[in-house]
Parts: sequence; C-alpha cells; structure tokens
Amino acid sequence: MIQAEISNELFKRAQNSIPGGVNSPVRAFRAVGGNPRFMVSANGPYLFDEDGNRFLDLINSWGPMILGHASEVVQEAVQKAIPYSLSFGAPTRKEVEIAELIVSMVPSIEKVRMVNSGTEATMSAIRVARGYTGRDKIIKFEGCYHGHGDSFLISAGSGAITLGVPDSPGVTKGTANDTLTAPYNNLDAVKMLADANKGQVAAIIIEPVAGNMGLVTPRQGFLQGLRNLCDQEGIVLIFDEVMTGFRLAPGGAQELYGVTPDMSTLGKIIGGGMPVGAYGGRKEIMDFVAPAGPVYQAGTLSGNPIAMSAGMAMLTYLKEHPETYTQLDSITASMVAGMQQNMQQLGLNYTINRVGSMFSIFFTQEQVTGFDAAKTSDTALFGRYFNSMLQRGIYLAPSQYEALFVSTAITEDLVEQYVQANLEALQEAHQV
Ligand code: PMP
Repeated sequence: MIQAEISNELFKRAQNSIPGGVNSPVRAFRAVGGNPRFMVSANGPYLFDEDGNRFLDLINSWGPMILGHASEVVQEAVQKAIPYSLSFGAPTRKEVEIAELIVSMVPSIEKVRMVNSGTEATMSAIRVARGYTGRDKIIKFEGCYHGHGDSFLISAGSGAITLGVPDSPGVTKGTANDTLTAPYNNLDAVKMLADANKGQVAAIIIEPVAGNMGLVTPRQGFLQGLRNLCDQEGIVLIFDEVMTGFRLAPGGAQELYGVTPDMSTLGKIIGGGMPVGAYGGRKEIMDFVAPAGPVYQAGTLSGNPIAMSAGMAMLTYLKEHPETYTQLDSITASMVAGMQQNMQQLGLNYTINRVGSMFSIFFTQEQVTGFDAAKTSDTALFGRYFNSMLQRGIYLAPSQYEALFVSTAITEDLVEQYVQANLEALQEAHQV
C-alpha cells in the first residue's frame, strides 16, 4: 500500500474550512472511494504528493499540461514576465500578440476576447449569441459540460453527473426553461427541437469531441449536420473547445473534423496551466461585445500578463512543432493498443474511445456514442480499477465520466509501465 497519511490528515482539515474539502468537485474521490491526494509538485510526466508518492499523471491538470509538467518553454516565459509586475488592468502588447496567434490558429476565430476560465468563456459566448440573434433559447447536449454557468447545469456531464446532480438546485426555472437538451450524436432530435422552437434558438453549443461523459466522438456527418441546420435556421453554432482546442490539432477539433462553427470557446492550454479562457468567432458576432458593441462582458484580471506569457509560449511552441500532434497520437495509440491486448488476454471486452491524445475506458460492452450508453458503465468496477491503478502509481481521473489526457512527457518506456499496471489493475478490479 502506498502511504496516504499526510493527505488524509490534510483532507480532514480541509473539510472544516472548504466545502467538501476541495475547490472543485471533480477533485474529490467520492465516486471512486478513498480520499484525494494532496499534491506538492509535478515534473514532466509525474505528480508528487505530500506523502512522497510519485504518480504517472494522466489528468495533466485536466488538459493544459500538454507538454508535461513544469515544461521549460512555459516556465521560462513566466519567470521572464514576473519582474514586470503581475497585473496592470490596462492593455499590453502580449494581449495583441496572443489574439493574433489564436486567430491564426483557430479556423472559426476572427476576433477573440480573453477571460479567466472556461466557464466564463461559455457563459459569455451564449450571452453574445443571444445579443446577436435577439433570441433566448439554447440547445446543449446531454452529458456535455460547459462549466458551471446556470444555463449549462441541465443534463450536465463531468463532476455534475459524477456526484449525481446533473440538474443543480439554485438554477431558476426560467433559466432552465431556456436550455433545451438533445442526445449527443442525434441530429434528428436536434432538428425536432429547432423545429418546435422555430425562431427562438440563439445557439447550439457542443463539445465537438465530448470529454465530459468520458470520451465520446462525433458520428460521421453529425457536426456538419449541425452546421447545416444552424445555417438554415440562423442559429449560432458554438464549439466548446475548452478541452479539445490546441490539443487535438493546432486548430482544435474544428480543424480535425473540417467543420467551422460561428463561435468557439477555449481554455486550459491557452494558459499553459495559468487560469485562462477565451471566446471568439466571426467578426460580425464578436463586434457585439463591449466596448465595440452592446453585449457587456468584462474582467479585472482578463489578459493577465503572466497568463498571457505562459499562453504565448505554449501556443507558439505548438504552432512551430506540429510533430507534437503525431507524437501524442502515436503514444496514446500504443497505450490503448496495450489496454486492448490486456483485455483480450483476460477475456474482457470493454469499450475504449480515443481521439488523438484523449481517451476513456468505459466499463461496458456497449458502444458509447452518447450519455445513455456511457451510463451503462459499471461505476463500482471503475472505482476498484481506479484505486488499483493509484496503488500502482498511476493517477487517473477519479470518475468514469471523464477523459484522460496524455502529455508529450509520456515516453514509450512509461507506456510499458502503464500497460502493465493496467493489466494488473484489471485483474485486481475483477477479484471481488
Ligand atoms: N467547457 C468544457 C468542455 C470543459 O471541459 C470545461 C472544464 N473541464 C469547461 C467548459 C469549464 O472550464 P473551467 O473549469 O475552466 O471553468
């Protein structure tokens, strides 16, 4: 057994002063049993906790550490920026440079506004879409998570489903009524909703590759079908690429699948680990944002110089090193191939979904193309598997309904270790 005394003690203390002992619900280990580990540092592929344990990290801060932890590229940029002060609340050259870089990389973005989290990005994007169209309703998809804005906490994935609160108290009926939900990958259902609410739908927001019910990929033609529907109905199509942006390709899932939305929301990787989000899209729509237009959205710390320096370093690296994506794809493919071999050896047949450097194992034999299928997973088995992996020094997301993220710091020899741990954990998890 690995040590956990100090983490356990800190968790006990934390619960007295922090709700549930954590600053974001997805960090709690409620769904898998046990207490969360308290981290001290991280380097390359590894996390180190208070008890001196080392873990191979497959969360990577839920996505942003695409180059591994404490990457020199990002650390140096941050260190260089610090002596110039941490915040001005006034415009900087770096904000212009990062905006230009994002515009050059993301197909749908002609203008972009920086914010401080993915939640802010999605909340702002739908406000702009509503202001632009003069309509109130939005369509989202079951199992997709777009942050904790009121409008999105209806049939939400990620921590909301993990904790069994997909429809949160505190969201007013009025707000809930303006959010329509459709099953992921079901174009007919979306068409019916748009038809039944003709002229009232401002936006369709979707994770073009869903990462918040475990990893679910879009069926062929699904994203293009949404694009066509939005064109016909004057609806703003928003791709929430908070997870997929700059991860699946330099231009995100929209580049990978060749479908360009009207607006996109971004986060995580743009900050290289600093708290950053962004939303952008067609000029005509983005010019509705204050002070260019009437839709208000602001932020004291938005475009923070340290965060912008980290982001510039990260995005510049990714733009200049497209081979990063082939490397990530091939490493992740080997991990998944190893897991599939393990299952074959053990006579198991669970579903693994993968796109590039994101993947999930679902403890179900059903094909997982949406939330209903994801929910057929054996979550108790997942909990045992998670804890067996943790005991073997592998840090997975503590929920069946999350994707895993691979970084470039995960090399072939670490893949071998991971695959061996997976074999043993699969065996152990089935011994009940
Ligand atoms: N959208 C998506 C697709 C996400 O995965 C997340 C968070 N994982 C968010 C929005 C919210 O981002 P944040 O946690 O930075 O507010």
